[in-house]
Order: sequence, then structure tokens, then C-alpha cells
Amino acid sequence: MNTPDNVDPKEIEKFSDMAEQWWDPEGDFKPLHKLNPTRLEYIEQGVQGLFGKNVADIGCGGGILAESMALQGANVTGIDLAKASLQVARLHVLESQCEIDYQEITAEQFAIQHPQQFDVVTCMEMLEHVPDPASIIKACCDMVKPGGTVYIATINKTFKAYLLMILGAENVLKWVPKGTHEYEKFIRPSQLLNAIDNTRLHCDEMRGVELDILSGKFKVTNNVDVNYMLRCRKI
Ligand code: SAH
Repeated sequence: MNTPDNVDPKEIEKFSDMAEQWWDPEGDFKPLHKLNPTRLEYIEQGVQGLFGKNVADIGCGGGILAESMALQGANVTGIDLAKASLQVARLHVLESQCEIDYQEITAEQFAIQHPQQFDVVTCMEMLEHVPDPASIIKACCDMVKPGGTVYIATINKTFKAYLLMILGAENVLKWVPKGTHEYEKFIRPSQLLNAIDNTRLHCDEMRGVELDILSGKFKVTNNVDVNYMLRCRKI
């Protein structure tokens, strides 16, 4: 059911306050800008190209991922609850000359309105900001067509993730503002897979995403200790 409860208002406020930073490649969202080409390529490979596909991006923020998919020829709808981020996203498409339907709506409500309508659903770096990730996963499953693909990316709940994502990125290197992530909300792969098992999704692949210190680029690897992504198919 629609669960307005499945929203942490403090998270939405936090992202709204950062909204003007979305498209600054050197700003608070620099890690997402760096990560984006890598995850876009991973998504494209898994669905044999995005051209002409109907895609829903859940927790789209300022549209970093949504826009890159639209520029590959996908018909993208992006949803989020942070008004200020959606405003930034709507303005930015004018600059990049692509079309995206941005909506302020919960994933659960959107799934009720759009059952089985998408070829591809992406929910990246979002689940670690919601009270009940399983409810979002179920919504993603409900909105994707049978045979369609759902991509989920989040952060593992390990000591290494605490060291890198909170101590390192927030406190030492100051790549992202303090309080961006909370260790308690990080999600173990087993937890995600349990939630997926309760839906009609089947996880086909789980990969890690690691920053290669030498090249400064993110790479898809087999190490899921910190950042990781899942490719799931709806049965
Ligand atoms: N997916 C984007 C943005 C990740 S940041 C990317 O990877 O580039 C996390 C986003 O999740 C923020 O934009 C925040 O506003 C959104 N968010 C947090 N809780 C949400 C909820 N309950 N419903 C929808 N969006 C939410």
C-alpha cells in the first residue's frame, strides 16, 4: 500500500538543502558524477541498450542518472520527494535538451498508478535513505513489466564501508557533507536478497563498484564490501 510513512523527512530536507549543488561536478555530488558513466555502461550492457526503452528512475535527485539515460534515447520518468531537487532537474533538462517526466510522488504510489509499465527501473543510491527499503523494492517490482529489469545500487553494512563512506568521504576527505550517510541505514546484500525473494524479481547479478585510486575512476568489480549493484529480472 501507499506508505507515506516510508519517507524520512530529515532525508528529504537534507537533499533539498543540497539541491543547488546537483550539477556542480566538483560539488557535494561529485562522487555521483564520477560514478555515473560506470553505472550507465553497466545498465546499458544489461539491457542491450536503452534506446526506446521506458525507464523509471526512483529517487532521481537532480537527474544525474535520469538525464544520462534519456540522452541514450530512453523515455525516462524520474521520481523523488525533494521538491527543490526536482526543480533543479526540470531546469537542467532545458540545458541538455532532452525530455524527462519528473514527478514528486512516492515509489509506492507511483507503482499503483503505473503497474507493469516500464522496461527498466533504476533505484540507485537511494535505498540507504529510506526507512523501509523492502517496500521500495516491491514498488520497483510492481512497476516493471514481466521480463523487465530492475537495477538497485546501495552501500553494504561493513566496517570498511563505515571507514570509506563516513569516516573517509565525510570527515577526512570531505568529498560529501557530514551526515550524508548513516551507518545504521547501510544494507547488507543478504537483506536486499531477502526483500527481493519476497517479490517476483530474481537477482541475476550482483557486482561491486570500486574507486580505482590510480585512474580516479569507478570500476565494476566482484568486491561488494562497500558500494554494490544488483541486476534483477521480473519473472
Ligand atoms: N539516484 C540518484 C540520487 C541519489 S541521492 C543518483 O544516484 O544520482 C538519494 C535521493 O533519494 C535523493 O534525491 C533523495 O531526495 C531521494 N529520496 C530519499 N528518500 C526518498 C523517498 N522516500 N522517496 C523518494 N526519493 C527519496
